Amino acid sequence: LSLVYQPQVDLTTSEVVGVEALLRWHHPEKGLIPPSIFIPLAESSGLISSIGQWVIEEACMQCKQWVDLGFHNITIAVNVSPIQFRRSNMVNIVLNALSKSELLGKHLELELTESLFLDHSTDLEHTLVELNKANINFSIDDFGTGYSNLGYLKNSKIKILKIDQSFIQKIQENSQDRAIVVAIIQMARSLNMITIAEGVECDSTLAVIKDLGCDIGQGYFWSPPLSSGELQEFIKENRNLSQYC
Ligand code: C2E
Ligand code: CA
Ligand code: CA
Repeated sequence: LSLVYQPQVDLTTSEVVGVEALLRWHHPEKGLIPPSIFIPLAESSGLISSIGQWVIEEACMQCKQWVDLGFHNITIAVNVSPIQFRRSNMVNIVLNALSKSELLGKHLELELTESLFLDHSTDLEHTLVELNKANINFSIDDFGTGYSNLGYLKNSKIKILKIDQSFIQKIQENSQDRAIVVAIIQMARSLNMITIAEGVECDSTLAVIKDLGCDIGQGYFWSPPLSSGELQEFIKENRNLSQYC
């Protein structure tokens, strides 16, 4: 297993403000197996808890290196499966990963899914409260594709909505997709939340989401997921460029 990293770019300053860690599995015979195949297998076999723990530890260690290299504002976003979130002791795992790596909590963002909020659990609220005390951020991944009861957005610990790529990719030709994105951005604003557009592939899409007031973008337009070395180079180059903008 290894991690690759995809940059997230501030749409006003063009600076890299975050990185999403994405898991890769290189099978010795079958080659690269996509996470859409192996994550569900790991979830049903129970392996997701130990894999998820490794991802959090590795991501924290990597982010600490970038902070030490001078990228002081960088955050690392880690995908957390709802099954992993419910079954493992997330508070211990995350706080240990932070202390082992000496990364400050403000650099870590946990990507949750809407389905996690399907049942009202005091355990979930307790976990969010404890992790929030360590300044860890929470985002909702694939926002708009899942659960339709939005009541959980009143939870002030959730600060970021990641607008699913299915709405972003057809935003120019499909007026319904566009209307949904407009509504998500307006709602996020009134709730004091940040929006990230996922799956931005071309400059015309970028122009639309910028115009609509989206905060951050992620997608092949800037870069595919990269190795840690490549990501480091990407941030350096991007810095030099944004100095001249
Ligand atoms: P996701 O969290 O929605 O991640 C975004 C996916 O979109 C990634 O696919 C990324 O490579 C891809 N992507 C990024 N930019 C573009 C773009 O411009 N166009 C298109 N078409 N795709 C783009 P990936 O890496 O194959 O991951 C698929 C899913 O697997 C992720 O979706 C996430 O749900 C899951 N996943 C990946 N890593 C982990 C992990 O460490 N833990 C857990 N629980 N799930 C993970
Ligand atoms: Ca994600
Ligand atoms: Ca997503």
